[in-house]
Amino acid sequence: MALTFSNRVALVTGAGRGIGKTIAQDLAAEGVRVICVSRNEASCGAAAEEIRSNGGDAVAHCVDVSDSAAVTAAAKELLAQFGNIDILVNNAGITRDGLLLRMDDKAWDDVIRTNLSSAFYWVRALAHPMARKRWGRIINVGSVIGLMGNAGQANYAAAKAGLAGFTKSVAREFASRNVTANVVAPGFIETDMTASLDEKQTEAILGMIPLKRMGQAKDVSSLVTFLASDESSYITGQVFTVDGGMVM
Ligand code: NAP
Repeated sequence: MALTFSNRVALVTGAGRGIGKTIAQDLAAEGVRVICVSRNEASCGAAAEEIRSNGGDAVAHCVDVSDSAAVTAAAKELLAQFGNIDILVNNAGITRDGLLLRMDDKAWDDVIRTNLSSAFYWVRALAHPMARKRWGRIINVGSVIGLMGNAGQANYAAAKAGLAGFTKSVAREFASRNVTANVVAPGFIETDMTASLDEKQTEAILGMIPLKRMGQAKDVSSLVTFLASDESSYITGQVFTVDGGMVM
């Protein structure tokens, strides 16, 4: 099925590497103008450059998404530059794992701010212009860990579960303005984030996945791209797992 994107502009956070980079590439391949956001100038810059060298339209914008004031300022600047941002993909995320009794405040706060509060900062800044235009797509990248919990990841699980409740509320608040909001919750995907898993951990994970393989960034970006298109217009407030059948 061919997807429809009519002169859309997308902002993808965490577009410097991994899943976000592939999402940015896939949207650009559909003719969407893409703003690649990441923490380091070098990573979002290289991602945008790669898209341009393949004939796509992309710019890079370096901003720490866990910083409320920085996101608000960046959104204002980008809205002035692009007129509108139609598609928002909140994908940037980090882990700071540790057993609960040894987890310090910083590990908790950093993960909540980067994975959850960042989505609030961007949606607060961009949903109103979407609503005025009567078209918008908000896609938040969660995790199966937000549905299942995981020993050693209480901070990450709380952030990702929070993202689901946040997204459902956004979906309800903006539905009448034709702005949809959904969560895509990946399982275990081969990126830098999962590169440090040892053989034993990988074996244990594969034992939980009916499809018996780790996912690829493309497995996630294909669904994100569909949810960003005109064709997904009747879908909002949902959490979709992309996890090889881990959570059923
Ligand atoms: P990744 O390879 O580690 O890349 C993370 C991206 O997020 C990078 O581009 C990084 O920027 C950016 N980022 C992190 N903190 C940021 C901040 N404060 N401000 C701006 N950008 C920031 O991660 P990934 O595996 O692709 O994961 C992407 C998303 O999928 C995350 O939300 C993650 O929780 C979720 N997820 C991943 C998996 C998995 O198995 N990989 C599973 C479930 C969910 P720099 O490039 O500048 O460092």
